[in-house]
Amino acid sequence: MSDPTPRPVRVRFAPSPTGYLHIGGARTALFNWLFARKHKGVFILRIEDTDQKRYTAEAEQDFKDSLHWLGLNWDEGPDVGGEFGPYRQSERSEMYQQWANWLIDNGYAYRCNCTAERLAGLRKEQGKQKVRIGYDRHCRDLNLGPDCGEYVVRFKMPVDGETTVYDEMRGNISFQNADLQDLVLLKSDGLPTYHLANVVDDHFMEISHIMRADEWIATAPLHARLYQAFGWEMPKIAHLPVILSPSGKGKLSKRDQAFEEGGTKILVQVREFREAGYLPEAVVNFLTNVGWAFGDDREEFTPEEAMERFELKDINPSAGKLPFDKLVWLNNQYIMMMAPDALAEKIKPYLEADGLVVDMDKLKAITPYIQERIKTLSEASEWLAFLFKAEITIDDPVQLIQKNMDVDSTLRALKASYDTLKGLGDFSHEQQEKAMRALAEQMGLKAGQLFGSVRVATSGQPVSPPLFQSMEVLGKDVSLKRIEDAIKLLMIDD
Ligand code: GLU
Repeated sequence: MSDPTPRPVRVRFAPSPTGYLHIGGARTALFNWLFARKHKGVFILRIEDTDQKRYTAEAEQDFKDSLHWLGLNWDEGPDVGGEFGPYRQSERSEMYQQWANWLIDNGYAYRCNCTAERLAGLRKEQGKQKVRIGYDRHCRDLNLGPDCGEYVVRFKMPVDGETTVYDEMRGNISFQNADLQDLVLLKSDGLPTYHLANVVDDHFMEISHIMRADEWIATAPLHARLYQAFGWEMPKIAHLPVILSPSGKGKLSKRDQAFEEGGTKILVQVREFREAGYLPEAVVNFLTNVGWAFGDDREEFTPEEAMERFELKDINPSAGKLPFDKLVWLNNQYIMMMAPDALAEKIKPYLEADGLVVDMDKLKAITPYIQERIKTLSEASEWLAFLFKAEITIDDPVQLIQKNMDVDSTLRALKASYDTLKGLGDFSHEQQEKAMRALAEQMGLKAGQLFGSVRVATSGQPVSPPLFQSMEVLGKDVSLKRIEDAIKLLMIDD
């Protein structure tokens, strides 16, 4: 888009909430938001709920929650208001009716009272004759009045010549008018279609730039003709590139929830990313790179840094694959950059969602030791659950037995560990380690053998955060109790 623009920058994200916010929709919102912030403009949220059969309030709530979670806050829109409201189309129907009438009165649109049966018959006939399916403009010149029964309002598309739309990323896109239809603007229930509502709202909300999904390219000539008919300046328009699945097989928009591809679970709803424990900062960073590139081979940057460089002309209009593996890497980078206490706060709800009762002091004490190891917040549970459970279970006692050891030597090792740890006045990880290393040497064991058995005994798992830090957090009594239980598990009753 040409910068600086003569109109103050006002852009909008205009979803029709029928399902949960999709990563493709989030990318559209994000690019609008970045553009608005870059130009110190206004970012608007407008709810396009004219298809009342498919709209749900739950979906709208999910859109708002997801946008907030991503940090894409709107300056005007539902909940925050603004001088161009209301921002929900169902609250603006009178306005659309008024402008539909204006189009009829000025010869740009007409009433059509063709019945559903007639249209079905027409479609059938066109199908039989293998000609293009579409409305035959039967009512176009009948000048039907408002008393013509049940009717829709259709736009009078020119029948010959071309309509050209300038896309800020793609340049001129031309359409043969003969290929276009007289589409419906107002439905028989008096509610507008997307086309009329969208154009009227963009005009009256003084939208300067439209960035929308590329699936809407086909509607651009109708929108351009509507602006022309009304005598309104059309906002600058750019159609964002299609996002393909990571393998490149198929459009991501065809997936409405997480799916498997090549053994990896690919997430698509923003709420799925949240539930899986991705950080919003990482998701935003990742999405900024879908169709646009920061440059200088840099993958990691803040929204503020992206804003400085963000230009729509730099967006690649061709379809691109979703680089999902980059997100996993990025998320780990963001996790590593966090202050451990702040990370602990973020991890807490994920542990709680797994039914654990979290002691914040313990969690804060151990978080630095898993910080580099987790790629998502939800993974923390696998590492830490044993710290917050009253009891642990060792699925198979054989796990206690380390390489080149047997039941007897393991029992001896665990009993000696028990005695050594019990004798410690100071249960800090430093003291534990010192004592246990000395014990390993004294018993002729490798540290890994001794520590491995104690690790399984106290955590129930062969891989855990560092052993002595874990036992320090568990506390002396619990650690000893677990070693005792493990000893019992290995003893064969006689
Ligand atoms: N309601 C449309 C959608 O959900 C808006 C498209 C546009 O931005 O114009 O895709």
